[in-house]
Amino acid sequence: MAPRAITVIGGGPAGCAAALAALAEGASVTLYEKSRLPRHKVCGEFLSPEILALVESLGLRDAFFAARPARLSRAVLRMGSREKHFPLPQPAFSLSRYALDRLLLDAAVQRGAEVKMETRKADDCSGQPVVIAHGRQAPAPKGGRLFGFKAHFRGPVEDAVEMFFFRGGYVGVSPVEDGAVNVCGLAPEELLRAGGFRPETLFPESLQERLAPLERSFDWLVTGPLVFHEKFDRPAEAYLAGDALGFVDPFTGSGILSALATGKLAGRSAARGVPVAGYNAQCRRILGLQYGFSAILRHALSDGLVAEIMLYVAQWVPGPLLYRLTRPAMGKATA
Ligand SMILES: Cc1cc2nc3c(=O)[nH]c(=O)nc-3n(C[C@H](O)[C@H](O)[C@H](O)COP(=O)(O)OP(=O)(O)OC[C@H]3O[C@@H](n4cnc5c(N)ncnc54)[C@H](O)[C@@H]3O)c2cc1C
Repeated sequence: MAPRAITVIGGGPAGCAAALAALAEGASVTLYEKSRLPRHKVCGEFLSPEILALVESLGLRDAFFAARPARLSRAVLRMGSREKHFPLPQPAFSLSRYALDRLLLDAAVQRGAEVKMETRKADDCSGQPVVIAHGRQAPAPKGGRLFGFKAHFRGPVEDAVEMFFFRGGYVGVSPVEDGAVNVCGLAPEELLRAGGFRPETLFPESLQERLAPLERSFDWLVTGPLVFHEKFDRPAEAYLAGDALGFVDPFTGSGILSALATGKLAGRSAARGVPVAGYNAQCRRILGLQYGFSAILRHALSDGLVAEIMLYVAQWVPGPLLYRLTRPAMGKATA
């Protein structure tokens, strides 16, 4: 019997994981990617510890460590004069999207995916199993929109992910491979616009002090609007994966983990002919709690007073618990 033919739209983490999982099931895969890869992408590049089991399950352990991801053992949350420090339950990783996206796409090609560097619409793929992994594409009306930004810096490196919260936004600072430091955050569009889209005009004093010994290696990249959404219950004929399925607030640092997990499930489900509704239900089990908790935190952060109260209360909440509530429930997704 001819192998099942799967189409994957998007060559980011979700699309590549889908391709790898479908290939492992004996399917043939055609993957469409509209952009030239690799490239720098707005992303905090934080990879939570569960990523390792997932990377291993995709047969990528050696390639992952060959890219020399930075290891992070601590988290620091800063808001105004308040600080919260806690060790991460297990060491996390951090790897530039330049390196990560390249290693994923290379692996998909090496294992037999046909990669076409072109834009593909889902409507053009009727009659065959399709994984839609085209990333965030939700529009948002002007006013109150959030935009993300990122640059790499050079200078002293800490083994921590440091989060700086300020009015309406936040910035994360963490090392990536080869001694570079990722500085990435999000803020309301109007505040960024008022500062000429130079994010540093918004930075609180504590962050300016943190960045003082560092030197920026490339211009700020800006992306948006960022629209938080999930489509677990939306009837669909295709398997949505990664940000196309749901986009959670980036402070969770779990988007790539979720993209790999749902991409892997989507590729496997498409290859095995699992109904889309069954696949969606599995995704809800993995991501539902995290999405609920993150939505509450996001609402709190967007209100200055509530955010102050939350941070005050957070001083007594164990760091590992806070951390766990913002993670997907990986369970069988790594198997
Ligand atoms: C400010 C910010 C900070 C973040 N920080 C982190 C973090 O620290 N850690 C973390 O885990 N996550 C983080 N994320 C989230 C993370 O970047 C995403 O969750 C992740 O990129 C999702 O992967 P994906 O494969 O679903 O989508 P993408 O990475 O967006 O990949 C989609 C791909 O599809 C291609 N494409 C789109 N349309 C088409 C088409 N029609 N045809 C062909 N190709 C197409 C695109 O070119 C792209 O390469 C952050 C996000 C933002 C905005």
